[in-house]
Amino acid sequence: MYAIAIHGGAGAVPRATLAPERERSYRAGLESALDGGFAVLERGGTSLDAVATAVRLLEDHPAFNAGHGAALTRDGAAELDAAIMDGRQMRAGAVASVRHVKNPIELARRVMEKSRHVLLVGAGAEEFALEEQFVLVPNQYFRTAERLEQLESEQRGERVSDLVPPSVQGTVGAVACDASGNLAAATSTGGMTNKRPGRVGDSPIIGAGTYAKNGVCAVSATGHGEYFIRAVAAHHVCAAVEYRKLTLEQAVHELLHVILRKLGGDGGLIAIDHAGRIVMEFSTEGMFRGARESTGRREIAIY
Ligand code: ASP
Repeated sequence: MYAIAIHGGAGAVPRATLAPERERSYRAGLESALDGGFAVLERGGTSLDAVATAVRLLEDHPAFNAGHGAALTRDGAAELDAAIMDGRQMRAGAVASVRHVKNPIELARRVMEKSRHVLLVGAGAEEFALEEQFVLVPNQYFRTAERLEQLESEQRGERVSDLVPPSVQGTVGAVACDASGNLAAATSTGGMTNKRPGRVGDSPIIGAGTYAKNGVCAVSATGHGEYFIRAVAAHHVCAAVEYRKLTLEQAVHELLHVILRKLGGDGGLIAIDHAGRIVMEFSTEGMFRGARESTGRREIAIY
């Protein structure tokens, strides 16, 4: 049994306003990432390779808030966060506030594999990227007309405050269980539209937006990151499964609908356990998501 689940962010576009053409683009992006990641598992690859592949494909797709098409800071720049975790030895790598790395998830993986550290930020992360011969791109590469429009509309209107979350998110992530039962999780994001430069969300914080532990579960979250950090969301789910013997469904439900609700935060997450069982759940209107299992199940959904 092997399986993978992906998300393209919680929040989604209000159902009534999602044009068919946009919906097709989101679905096509999700499908290609899901199938790309699944193909790795099918070939006997590791869950780590599968989640890295799926997230890289989503980073390259302009519809999602990660890599090309990332949400913009209030200064109009893209600042990207990403993390990856290998459930085998609970090794992890993450980067935050990078502005020139085309695929932040690959740099996060390199941090895990080639540095003595877990999290590198900003200029230090990009120095490491240069040493590792990553090709850097101008910040402009990430900026799409749509994200600029979103930023401008937020700045013109109701959501100029640092404290108010945007309605459209779109972080990307993947979790997988390979044929050997190894778990892995990966998450990548441009963060929140109109964020303050230097703001870091939950995605690159191990235990908040991303977590994986063999024998327990792997989690990738999306939503209003400040709340996920305060709830140590991804780790909470794994700990509830491991120590309180909750089912994965129960643990995810408690996190989203009890703990985060009490704090006033919303979002969603995808999780997978060592048996390849997948949970995809959200407290927002929708969450771009997909799942595929060696049993033949293949699902793409938004609402
Ligand atoms: N969780 C991300 C952040 O706060 C945003 C999102 O999921 O859309 O940076």
